[in-house]
Amino acid sequence: MINEINLLRVSESRYRRLFETALDGILLLNADTAQIEDVNPYLIAMLGYSHVEFLGKKLWEVGPFADIAQSKEMFSKIQTEGRVRYDNLPLRTITGTLVQVEFISNIYDCAGVKVIQCNIRDITDRKRAEKQLADSNIELEQFAYVASHDLREPLRMINSYLSLLERNNPQHSEESKKYLRFAKNGAVRMDHLVVALLELSRVGANSPCIVPVDSAAATDDAISNLASLIEKTDSDVCKIAPMPKVMADRGELTRLLQNLIGNAIKYRHPERRSVVQVSCQPCEGGWKFAVADNGIGIGSEHYERIFRIFQRLHGRDQYEGTGIGLAICKKIVEHHEGTIWVESVPGQGSTFFFTLPLLRATK
Ligand code: ADP
Repeated sequence: MINEINLLRVSESRYRRLFETALDGILLLNADTAQIEDVNPYLIAMLGYSHVEFLGKKLWEVGPFADIAQSKEMFSKIQTEGRVRYDNLPLRTITGTLVQVEFISNIYDCAGVKVIQCNIRDITDRKRAEKQLADSNIELEQFAYVASHDLREPLRMINSYLSLLERNNPQHSEESKKYLRFAKNGAVRMDHLVVALLELSRVGANSPCIVPVDSAAATDDAISNLASLIEKTDSDVCKIAPMPKVMADRGELTRLLQNLIGNAIKYRHPERRSVVQVSCQPCEGGWKFAVADNGIGIGSEHYERIFRIFQRLHGRDQYEGTGIGLAICKKIVEHHEGTIWVESVPGQGSTFFFTLPLLRATK
């Protein structure tokens, strides 16, 4: 008996220490009367009110919860549901400043008394950092957009004067003609880069436009945009029915499929006709698309890096490109809250997979 009492004391003092030293605020409430039974030191430090200012008061009688209607509603929700979570609840401290908190409640029975435990985490700094990050991302995207947009104009000028030089001086030496050709190729390449960067910066920049889209129609659009490449390379591109209606931005889904099919053809095997298959299957929480080719394949050590901007596995002398296409694909998929990855057997072919979750329409 004495041992049991001792054990109880030891375990009580252990949990008391946890309560006293927790790095989250903890508030204990009587689940019938809404009276505050205890608050831990972390919550006292977070909100600035003293222990006695909390104890015995009803929840809505203390400063941070003084919005009576809101606090009563919260309390009755906890009474009926037990576990209630608020991701971003503003609480006012004793000095009048607001702290943003994450709030989770639980109800349990404590020797016949129903107690509500509220865990309260101060996320003010995290929210501030998230906002700063979001603002600086918007700024960066605007910068990338403006820079790439404005760069095209001087590039066009360089290109047209190079063409004029070429045309108006037929007596150019072979050497000069070669230099002019290099300069023009450089300007054209730079234009392709700038256009690709512009496109990358624009993914998701307009307010998201998630609507039901027929993925078969988006695949047809992608294939028809690539018609001349498909014809020139005599590739066999087909979609495997049935393809579902998905929640997506139609323009972005078409661009995504176009980039993947375009790559499947570009990186075809030199010794066989390129065959590309686009298919889609249901997966947990949404749809899984696959763009499969019988091309040159990719070593598994490159699976991650090819989705990063400017990462190419081949020189320009082998395959033309900017190294931005898959970065655009990744950004589009992430804009739809999905994931993208590749599986491949070098020498036999690659399959690019991406998932699209079941999103809600945004207009
Ligand atoms: P780009 O094609 O302009 O180089 P991407 O970002 O589209 O840029 O692709 C990055 C790299 O991934 C490519 O340079 C290529 O090496 C590799 N890659 C992409 N798609 C395929 C594919 N279907 N088969 C083999 N390699 C591929």
